[in-house]
Amino acid sequence: MAEAIAQEGTIPESRAAPKASAPVRALERMGLVRDIDLALHVPLRYEDETRLTRIADAHDGDTVQVEGVVTDSQVTYRPRRQLVARIRDDSGSMVLRFVNFYPSHQKALARGVRVRARGDVRAGFFGREMVHPGFKAVEPGAPLASALTPVYPTVAQLPQAYLRKAIASALQRAPLHEMLPPEVVPAGLPALRDALQRVHHPSADAALGALLDHSDPAWQRLKFEELLAQQLAQHEARLQRASLHAPPLPAVPGALHDRLLAALPFRLTAAQQRVGREIAADLAQPRPMHRLLQGDVGSGKTVVAALAATTAIDNGWQCALMAPTEILAEQHFRKLVQWLAPLNVGVAWLTGSRKGRAREAMVARAASGDAALVVGTHAVIQDDVRFARLGLAIVDEQHRFGVEQRLELRRKLGSQASGGQEPHFLMMSATPIPRTLAMSYFADLDVSTIDELPPGRQPVTTKLFADTRRDEVVARIRDEVARGRQVYWVCPLIEESQTLDLKNATETHRQLCAALPDRMIGLLHGRMPAREKTAVMSLFGGGQMPVLVSTTVIEVGVDVPNASLMVIEHAERFGLAQLHQLRGRIGRGSDASVCVLLYGGALSPTAKERLRAIGQTHDGFEIARRDLEIRGPGEFMGARQSGDALLRFADLAEDAPLLQHARAVAPRLLASDPQAARAHVQRWLGNRADYFKA
Ligand code: ADP
Ligand code: MG
Repeated sequence: MAEAIAQEGTIPESRAAPKASAPVRALERMGLVRDIDLALHVPLRYEDETRLTRIADAHDGDTVQVEGVVTDSQVTYRPRRQLVARIRDDSGSMVLRFVNFYPSHQKALARGVRVRARGDVRAGFFGREMVHPGFKAVEPGAPLASALTPVYPTVAQLPQAYLRKAIASALQRAPLHEMLPPEVVPAGLPALRDALQRVHHPSADAALGALLDHSDPAWQRLKFEELLAQQLAQHEARLQRASLHAPPLPAVPGALHDRLLAALPFRLTAAQQRVGREIAADLAQPRPMHRLLQGDVGSGKTVVAALAATTAIDNGWQCALMAPTEILAEQHFRKLVQWLAPLNVGVAWLTGSRKGRAREAMVARAASGDAALVVGTHAVIQDDVRFARLGLAIVDEQHRFGVEQRLELRRKLGSQASGGQEPHFLMMSATPIPRTLAMSYFADLDVSTIDELPPGRQPVTTKLFADTRRDEVVARIRDEVARGRQVYWVCPLIEESQTLDLKNATETHRQLCAALPDRMIGLLHGRMPAREKTAVMSLFGGGQMPVLVSTTVIEVGVDVPNASLMVIEHAERFGLAQLHQLRGRIGRGSDASVCVLLYGGALSPTAKERLRAIGQTHDGFEIARRDLEIRGPGEFMGARQSGDALLRFADLAEDAPLLQHARAVAPRLLASDPQAARAHVQRWLGNRADYFKA
């Protein structure tokens, strides 16, 4: 959203009045429809029209309001067409300069008119001046504003003055009565209506700093309201879930689960054993499990999921495992077949590229129950896919699915267990969710964390290189390949332009083919046919192809332990958590591994600092926390896809104490005054309340 310049004078009356439809449409587009929406559209900053500065006292760099009579007004053409007006008070004179102006400006600034102008003063060639000040005509002695003037985020079609009026009147009409019992609200915070009044129209002597940094009690009240709504929605979702039924899936001693455990070529880490017990305890209950299994890349989540799957199968139920990409689904499929086929477990495989008779056969196996385990992409939840007895649904890299997709998934799979029962859900994520975020967005999820890597992993060394040193990097690749090791080269996915992506990856591929003419260099990108992707992946996985150039399709979960070098091109375009995940593809074997971050062009010091930060820490939680600071929770929520910011007022990094409070009072309020609780959620979230169930 652009902030339109706050200047009443730019809107010629004759244009604004009869055609109110453009601003009205803009209001709608910004979601400002109900009075309450407008009342909750809060200012970005304020302008002080409560006092006047003498022109002689207005200094370079000050933001002031002055009042004077226009002594001269003309359109000049050097250096470009502009309107230049000079105003004078009894202390001096000042130039008002407009590069963009309407004829109405000229009229409004005719000689002899008395105006008040607001803006930044600068020392110009002809003395003091303001460029594009806000201004309005006034009668001599007109009263000054009694409150600060709010400046709202808006768009060009919605003039600040129009929006200001709309909000001021909506604020009067909006149903802002207190709905919360006073004991719920933290002590010392104003009533909601008073808080909004203060945020929109602070008095002339208000401490502006506290309003701007949102520490003011009025802001605290808004934040609390919002956090409470969110906690209530979550708590309600949790209560709803507790009333559902699921098939209890207790451990069956000596059956598949135990046999798989005995057949594994490694011992589970202590952390894997612990989360395994947490999951087993949930599965044994007659209520659906709803658990998030988080663990850094390489921490070994897949085997934990496979063990949970065998428990479901031991009880005579089916399990579905869904992954966000075809490559990942395929990899899971292979691994699971390798583990489970010797135990005579039927595994089916469903992806978007699987069509025709092969697909029909898989769908039939799911429907008949012949496939005890069905692995795939979102194809698993397509309409015609039915399960005979779905007892457990596992979603890998769940944060890669958007909020809407996750809801869809729960709706679809939720109806697939037989006898009015729901399946158990296990979500997995390699992007560890910071505590505050887990508390605020995922309260309906129980969380298990694998906080330990399998033994023998070598930490990955991360190096930062300017793109101009590409040749050195290529030389390094040659060495690595000569030692029998494998290399990933990752190119960024530019969402707006898949074509550009492709160019980037194919160009790099061509360069590497030229530099290593006797080696097989693979290329992998999102638009390749699935069959081809699979072929490339299996060549790389099998070791015949030492170098793989790819877009971020390899980001999630790919596991090739012999890969020891990763080059990430245009590393500055990636999020920190994403870089960390990518980097997690290497360092899986026992050899030391290196990740080279190539950055293009001139990088700002902060951008470089950010990349350096990732070299200094290997703690996925720490990285996720920083990413949260830099990019906000959208990354974790998949909210980006839905375009909806879930928190508008509160800030998870700053408002942990308020969040704690909201979290503590939400269950009490739901119990003591469910009607107030529901009304509060409706006021703040409307239909977005559903998001907290995803
Ligand atoms: P992620 O948690 O990132 O999904 P994976 O499940 O792909 O990690 O596991 C990474 C690799 O570590 C796999 O090759 C897996 O077989 C192996 N692995 C998992 N658990 C252990 C363990 N306890 N000891 C040794 N290797 C393990
Ligand atoms: Mg994984």
